[in-house]
Amino acid sequence: MIIDEKRQTIERYIEEHRTKSQEPFCAYLYDLEDLRRHASSIKKSLPDFVDLYYAVKANPEQPILETLEPIVDGFEVASAGEMNKVSSLTVKPMMFGGPAKKDSELEEAIRSGVKTINVESFHELNRLAALAEKHHTKIPVLARVNLTANVSDSHLRMSGVPTQFGVDEQEIPDFIKKVNTMDSIDLRGFHFHAMSNNLDAEAHLRFVEACLDKSLAWAERYRLDAPIVNIGGGIGINYWHPDDPFDWQVLAKGLHDLESKTNGRHIFMEIGRYMTASCGVYAAEVLDVKQNHDQSFAVLRGGSHHLRLPAAWKMSHPFRVFPVEDWPYPFERPEVRNREVTIAGELCTPNDVLVRQEPVTRLRAGDVVLFEYAGAYAWTISHHDFLSHPHPEIVYING
Ligand SMILES: *Cc1c(COP(=O)(O)O)cnc(C)c1O
Repeated sequence: MIIDEKRQTIERYIEEHRTKSQEPFCAYLYDLEDLRRHASSIKKSLPDFVDLYYAVKANPEQPILETLEPIVDGFEVASAGEMNKVSSLTVKPMMFGGPAKKDSELEEAIRSGVKTINVESFHELNRLAALAEKHHTKIPVLARVNLTANVSDSHLRMSGVPTQFGVDEQEIPDFIKKVNTMDSIDLRGFHFHAMSNNLDAEAHLRFVEACLDKSLAWAERYRLDAPIVNIGGGIGINYWHPDDPFDWQVLAKGLHDLESKTNGRHIFMEIGRYMTASCGVYAAEVLDVKQNHDQSFAVLRGGSHHLRLPAAWKMSHPFRVFPVEDWPYPFERPEVRNREVTIAGELCTPNDVLVRQEPVTRLRAGDVVLFEYAGAYAWTISHHDFLSHPHPEIVYING
């Protein structure tokens, strides 16, 4: 949850910097101290048999990675680009996943000495074995499993439904038998990343237990060492009701309670969204306020080319109004009071909407709208150069 102290840090920055340029305010603001606090409390809450990895794709900015580096046990990377970002920063271990790995990326992963590579298909297994032989090495891998069931009902699912991810659970026995014929492949365990933005901690715990049970059953049946159970990420942010967040304490306590069941297994978590979403705020100044077909619209200097998430998910992004008292013009200031407003961006498309008909007490041209929980899958997933508007300022606030 966003705390007042953090809101004040962001607002103080905007207050100080808003007038430094003639241009309307538009920025991403990341509170690195807040990120440090949040990541440390996640790490501290976990038992020793759980390793905490950061899934880089949620936010790969260098200051974010630098802030997390001393706290997390390692990084989950999904491309050679992410691998390079991490290995230029730290010697902490990386796990490499992704459904479409190029030979060059697999070779990069071998060279970088990644801890494990997820194998997502039989063909990928063959390719990796051939590369391992070429490089005279043995490669530690996790078999990425597409589960038949046991995946909770979350926003996006990669498993439990037909997707491009992983090896069908039904085929895992054949996969293991094939690996056992390969001297160059070392099966270290199983990978289960299955969902995105799960909001139900109890359901997440049941999912972890199912992953553990399956890993133990396969290990016993096929006499594997396979000590790693990678449960991926998928912890959600409640963008719709931010005051009813994912109950992390329920998950953390439940993980502690699993200790007697692990039988020497090590659980790896790869958290993206839940790690960085709350440290980031996207702030954009209102350029215009108007009525159209009896509805109210505010138009921003900014939009979905900076923050694509609400358009992609067809939701209203959580926001607050930062009131600005200065008004530079001699004529009247447009505003909307005690009404629902749609907050749109500066692009020439009706899809450029960040908030759809949500109530405000007052919103004026010249006010700044603060979109919270914009630290993950926000700037990095957006189409920055559509319409060639300038990029937002990117600001890191550190203490
Ligand atoms: C994206 C991804 C994650 C992180 O997911 P979040 O929902 O951001 O926590 C973890 N593991 C894998 C394999 C991923 O692709």
